Amino acid sequence: MRQKLFIRNLSNKNPTKDLTEDDLKFKIPKITRKKNIVVKLNNQVSFSKNNLPIIAGPNGVESRKLIFKVASFLKKKGIKILRGHAYKPLTFPYRSKKYLETQEEGMNWLDEVKRHLGLLVVTEVTEIKYLDRISMTADILQIGSRNMQNLELLKEIARLNRPIILKRHFGASIRDMLGAAEHILVEGNNKLILCERGVSIPHTHRETSRYALDIQAIPALKEICSYPVISDPSHASFWAPWVEPLALASVAAGCDGLIIEIHPDPKNSAVDPLQPLNFKQFSKLKSKIAKLSKLVNKKII
Ligand code: PEP
Ligand code: MN
Repeated sequence: MRQKLFIRNLSNKNPTKDLTEDDLKFKIPKITRKKNIVVKLNNQVSFSKNNLPIIAGPNGVESRKLIFKVASFLKKKGIKILRGHAYKPLTFPYRSKKYLETQEEGMNWLDEVKRHLGLLVVTEVTEIKYLDRISMTADILQIGSRNMQNLELLKEIARLNRPIILKRHFGASIRDMLGAAEHILVEGNNKLILCERGVSIPHTHRETSRYALDIQAIPALKEICSYPVISDPSHASFWAPWVEPLALASVAAGCDGLIIEIHPDPKNSAVDPLQPLNFKQFSKLKSKIAKLSKLVNKKII
């Protein structure tokens, strides 16, 4: 009897990880509506079907010196969007002595970088209580993979009506990701950018890689929705030597932007030292992307 009642109360008649016609009509109608979405940051920078913005920067805003060094390099390379987190989720609770979230101080350094170099900033919001401070500085608010379904956080961020990067959780189906995205759109914010950053699979071919970039998610998302889809090969592979091939593969697969982690001295990065590209590697990657972007009719920004 209990079992029967339970089944009758399920709103989803055919629970599945794949998308059904019913889903498109009743569960995710906004995110799957076909219209030309452009997420504009300023007159020079927008995420759209003809553009390929590259977001680059260190994992964390470790120090004033580091963030200025990276930002000055990016400015010289013509990159317009700097990434760097002052608030950070870490997989394990034990932090190395040199690593501390720089929080408000880190946000102040990001403000200085913006003032001096005119870059746009993407940074992560880990908790609602930090949102006021972060939104004073960030041009794009990042919702990290771990928070993809933290719906209260999503809604609070969405209500600011500012550009958002929503990262796919490494265990989430496309259906779950679009469900989370729908929560943002329901709040009236359509400045949304979706980000593929790797999924958890039983094997990743070497112990230094953690996730497998789901390249197929890029055309899959673009088939079903019109919001920009970007790729983060750094967090997917966790392994710098694979970042270039995966970035190029993402561009070939039709992504609308990239997030690349860089550091002037990767082995001394406070967290994830195997992951960032150094400046030389990034420069090489950028020139390859520039060539490939012509083939896919996109303008590198
Ligand atoms: C990050 O961008 O630094 C990050 C932690 O990403 P993710 O949420 O994809 O792990
Ligand atoms: Mn990171």
